[in-house]
Amino acid sequence: MEKIQMTTPLVEMDGDEMTRILWAMIKETLILPFVDLKTEYYDLGLLHRNDTCDQVTVDAANATKKYGVAVKCATITPNRQRMEEYPQLTEMWKSPNGTIRSILDGTVFRTPICIDAVKPVVKNWKKPITIARHAYGDVYKAVDMETTEPGTATLTFTGESGEAKTLTVQKVDGPAVWQGAHNKESSIRSFAKACFQYAIDTKQDLWFSTKDTIAKVYDGAFKRIFEEEFENYKAKFEELGITYFYTLIDDAVARVIRSEGGYIWACKNYDGDVMSDMVSTAFGSLAMMTSVLVAPDGTTEFEAAHGTVTRHYYKYLKGEQTSTNPMATIFAWSGALKKRGQLDGLAELESFGEKLEEACFDTLNAGIMTKDLVGLVEPGFQATAVNSQEFLNAIAERLQKKLA
Ligand code: NAP
Ligand code: MG
Repeated sequence: MEKIQMTTPLVEMDGDEMTRILWAMIKETLILPFVDLKTEYYDLGLLHRNDTCDQVTVDAANATKKYGVAVKCATITPNRQRMEEYPQLTEMWKSPNGTIRSILDGTVFRTPICIDAVKPVVKNWKKPITIARHAYGDVYKAVDMETTEPGTATLTFTGESGEAKTLTVQKVDGPAVWQGAHNKESSIRSFAKACFQYAIDTKQDLWFSTKDTIAKVYDGAFKRIFEEEFENYKAKFEELGITYFYTLIDDAVARVIRSEGGYIWACKNYDGDVMSDMVSTAFGSLAMMTSVLVAPDGTTEFEAAHGTVTRHYYKYLKGEQTSTNPMATIFAWSGALKKRGQLDGLAELESFGEKLEEACFDTLNAGIMTKDLVGLVEPGFQATAVNSQEFLNAIAERLQKKLA
């Protein structure tokens, strides 16, 4: 069989622990036999980030900007415990995802991979719900303080021109707690652009919710900026038959629960933090959750939402077989190849990505799955737990037939 050709390289970011092992297995079993793979490779493994003083992460993000599409493996974000585990670390390096996100100014979209055998907890959900979380500001960049005596708090902004604006927050007659939060118009605008762009790319409706009835100025700005930005995407939305829908967060929650799914739900930072955990848990498993970082200019980075699956890695190092679920990482690869195919007009490459995903679904529907999923299937569904390599082999077999 002739291998499928590529014209532009994918930016490939390798990672850590069990997902790094899976990364190599996926390439070996599912990609390299079929695709004449072109990548620009960046090793974001912790030790190489350390050796390069994290320059490799910055280089990988800049390469993503240049080429437009990246695929990333899960990586360790070092904490104190990791500093002990890896004594050679010269610094507690920052989260690579955070670094890449700030260079690309991107928004993260998380989508569950749904299969018939694992039903969502919410019975009427038929299609995946994608959560887009604004990842800048609000309570995550707020300052807060406690006071003990009666008094008055004010909020003052001093412009560089010297002009000041002051508001009374509250006069209190006893101990109190206070919080000062902000967001930037530029960040909200980037968020809006990324959401509209992603809705177009995936041909899905976009919902956006805030609490603008209460936070009239603050959340009102979010609503207004989305409306302004929508003007630039309206024609494309109409052409694709998709809609933009704004509603209050409490109304959105009720509608989401009653819906069939199949749309993107854009959330402010805190709402997205909370709702993404709720939605992903209700859909089943972290191992089946994909994550896509989209920049306002459409630059896209695909990855799995889960981490490096440390516990499995230590079993692997002891020579034990592990049944780690590679689905989200495979879908990061298929997503990136499809996107590369679309951008470069390579129908064969795009179709390869689709067939790879179909082969994954066929394998799962045949009851061949990793251990984590076997524990989640509906009663009566016949499922066999296999190890990661056996699972990949079963997918490869089906993929080969589809490509023949
Ligand atoms: P994790 O790697 O997602 O794993 C948490 C647990 O979830 C695992 O122990 C495992 O449960 C289950 N799990 C997750 N993915 C699975 C898969 N593919 N197949 C089967 N089971 C899966 O999260 P963590 O243990 O909190 O974090 C480990 C490291 O990952 C940390 O160093 C963190 O910094 C990093 N991390 C990276 C990213 C990223 O790069 N995007 C995201 C999150 C975390 P059982 O052990 O019960 O089988
Ligand atoms: Mg959270």
